[in-house]
Amino acid sequence: MVNKRDYYEVLGVVRDADEDTLKKAYRKLAMQYHPDRNVGDAEAEAKFREASEAYDVLRDSQKRQLYDRYGHAGLEGAGLPNFGNADSVMDMFGDILGDLFGGGRRRGPRSGRDLQMTLEIDLLEAARGVQKEVKVPRMEPCATCGGNGAQPGTKPTSCRRCGGHGVVIQGQGFFRIQQTCSACGGQGAVIADPCRACRGQGAVEVERTLTVNIPRGVDNDVSIRLTGEGEAGERGATPGDLYCVLRIRRHPIFARHGQDLHCEVPVTISQAALGRPIEVPTLDGEFVAQTLKHGTQSGDEVRIAGKGMPALRGGRTGDLVVHVRVVTPRKLTKRQEELFQELEEIDGTEMPPEHKSFFERIREFFAPESSADKS
Ligand SMILES: [Zn+2]
Ligand SMILES: [Zn+2]
Repeated sequence: MVNKRDYYEVLGVVRDADEDTLKKAYRKLAMQYHPDRNVGDAEAEAKFREASEAYDVLRDSQKRQLYDRYGHAGLEGAGLPNFGNADSVMDMFGDILGDLFGGGRRRGPRSGRDLQMTLEIDLLEAARGVQKEVKVPRMEPCATCGGNGAQPGTKPTSCRRCGGHGVVIQGQGFFRIQQTCSACGGQGAVIADPCRACRGQGAVEVERTLTVNIPRGVDNDVSIRLTGEGEAGERGATPGDLYCVLRIRRHPIFARHGQDLHCEVPVTISQAALGRPIEVPTLDGEFVAQTLKHGTQSGDEVRIAGKGMPALRGGRTGDLVVHVRVVTPRKLTKRQEELFQELEEIDGTEMPPEHKSFFERIREFFAPESSADKS
């Protein structure tokens, strides 16, 4: 048997605590550790279940007597509830916890689902921030019946099988089992004359137009939450949230790497060799002048500070990284031809150091075998 903590210790009460004290202590713990308030926290869920089990035993005088006399061993075969999840606890203690978590019924109306949608924006919009309108088809409370699912003029009636509790108890003594009522599906109410507009569901599909405020600096997969804009809850329960997950459209000129923007700028051989100013495009459509270094090579990078993407939550703006591409002219005018020929003659005597060392390395690599073959 797993080492279980003492039930009184779990609830933090004295051994002769009365029913009211137990209930108060349990409500406090349930409030603190309820899975709805600790989503994804396994430890909190375990504590929630532990407290629920302790309360289940101590509030039942027969089980409490057995436990007081024999400890945990005394309860073997006594039909401890199996709290597999929060719902099963709510089934059992909904009457005590219900008002803590909305709705007083054992299994209250379900709250609305969260919705998720993808929203595509331009890189410029991501840089500046933008307001977007989105159309969201979602379930909303039916206006005809006010969301209760009954045809106007009629009302849902309390389920006769479960007496409105939503659960039925089968068996006796220790061996009671609670089950969701099959007649009302756990709702506690039945609708004799369903609303025609929503077919008794209490909700209808509506397409809503919503405005999404997108802050500057967003990137792919950033998700923007619109609280309460998801699906309506069942019969007036809390609605879900809407999450807009952002996709940034590919830009024809700029590529984004984190906060930096990269672009390729073609320059002429003379601009690169002489180190001339060039015009660099920026994301907002303006051009900035940037002077190249003397003897710039194709593929060299020039960094322009502060012309990249703004940071989403403050911080430094990225840079614009210019990738220089030296373009060899494809068609030469007569004059250009002459000048290049002149250049060619000079290149023969004024070889740049890279060329020299390149040819030297080649000679070293092939010599002496290849030179021997050739001669
Ligand atoms: Zn309706
Ligand atoms: Zn029922």
